[in-house]
Amino acid sequence: MVEMDKIVSLCKRRGFIFQSSEIYGGTGSCWDYGPLGVELKNNVKRVWWRDSVQNRADMVGLDSSILMHPRVWKASGHLDHFTDPMVDCRDCKKRFRSDKIEDDIWLHFCAATKGNKFNIPGGEPCKHCGAKRTLCPACGKGELTEPRQFNLMFKTFMGPVEEDAAVAYLRPETAQGIFVNFDNVLQSMRMKLPFGIAQIGKSFRNEITPGNFTFRTREFEQMEIEFFVVPGTDEEWHQRWLDERFAWYPRYGIRKGNLRLREHEPDELAHYAKRTADIEYLFPMGWSELEGVANRTDFDLKQHAEFSGKALDYFDEESKQKIVPYVIEPSAGADRATLAFLVDAYREEQVKGEKRVVLNFHPELAPIKIAVLPLLKKNARIVETAHKLCADLRRRWRSVYDDTASIGRLYRRQDEVGTPFCVTVDVQTVGDDQAAADDKVTIRDRDQMQQVRVALSALPAVMEKLIAGEWAEIYRQHGVTRD
Ligand code: ATP
Repeated sequence: MVEMDKIVSLCKRRGFIFQSSEIYGGTGSCWDYGPLGVELKNNVKRVWWRDSVQNRADMVGLDSSILMHPRVWKASGHLDHFTDPMVDCRDCKKRFRSDKIEDDIWLHFCAATKGNKFNIPGGEPCKHCGAKRTLCPACGKGELTEPRQFNLMFKTFMGPVEEDAAVAYLRPETAQGIFVNFDNVLQSMRMKLPFGIAQIGKSFRNEITPGNFTFRTREFEQMEIEFFVVPGTDEEWHQRWLDERFAWYPRYGIRKGNLRLREHEPDELAHYAKRTADIEYLFPMGWSELEGVANRTDFDLKQHAEFSGKALDYFDEESKQKIVPYVIEPSAGADRATLAFLVDAYREEQVKGEKRVVLNFHPELAPIKIAVLPLLKKNARIVETAHKLCADLRRRWRSVYDDTASIGRLYRRQDEVGTPFCVTVDVQTVGDDQAAADDKVTIRDRDQMQQVRVALSALPAVMEKLIAGEWAEIYRQHGVTRD
């Protein structure tokens, strides 16, 4: 498993992710997606939307606002329950989540070795004196306070006056925007149970201990589905969604061995949940949540009906009765998914005695799909043909032209950002004094570095197949064997 530092440094060097406000020293836990990062994350969101909304007859989409009526958060329980237990160090004043503190590396001044300083992995005792952590893990000296509950919602004011009546919150999840629009969607789209509403959008949580790069930040994007079902069918639908979402990540390249399901213990369940299981990914810091799939019962619709005074129910034609649907919620993080796709794609290989760094993204996720490379940049016809080809390809796929280094260097550059295909234009393509143009170009694939030569006129059709992952047919046609 690659270390997080390598991913962070690659992301900065190659324009995927930068620290926010870096020239001012950075803001805690905020990150900006650079030119390649925004393409990657947009692709993650696009395939999620396509698979969750466009390709399903039982789903529709929504884009609700971040600022909502403050009563929403009273009804949803977030004002009273959306808290994490925190402890403070009385000495260095650092703050920790008391339920996660055992995961942190802790600093220990060991009495058995004349007070020597050791960094000890979270949850483990000191090898020398056998002591377990009781003091502050950061400074190793301070006593910790008793746990106190800390609300994670960001508070702000709507309008020009900063008074209690104007308090508003930045949403900590996109889900509530879906619940409050349940009836609008039901009526306007004539939906029939079971059906779902999906939304992608920013959420905000004032996390006590953010960290691990983009894994836990205070501003992040969620990709959430609220799937409404007839009560009594909820457990079956929950299982279906768990299976569906678990199978989704490997479809876009995540290795199955790096995914697992973790059931929430009864004492861990959120106040609204009947059952929750997390899809966990083996991130560089260990197994951590990638997506939560919860059975939220009829809690949210009932709460909003009670607090708003508006009925949020469904008339069941069969039983001729009004029912309040149950809700299954697959809730994924766009940033966490993007990070998992990045980490999983990272490879270091030895090629002809040299190190090659590759991001083997699924072609649908790759920020750049095609790089067009002229083999001789002094040959005007090659350069012109390559520019024209790149302009043509760019209309359908994100393509770049590069002639600023030798072909070997250009390939490595594209490998490192995960470009699945390089197309080279050479002398044979355009012809010279000795030979007529063959009007063919060479496609070189990132993963196996194999090459096939195809006619310029056939290139768009071939690319379409390759980007959809239909390698076998193309390679067979060109007599290339692949693993
Ligand atoms: P955690 O236990 O890691 O704090 P959670 O259980 O509070 O997460 P949920 O409320 O289930 O998270 O949110 C659904 C998804 O939203 C998570 O699986 C994750 O992908 C994403 N998410 C939640 N909090 C953050 C955050 N602070 N930064 C980035 N993504 C987040």
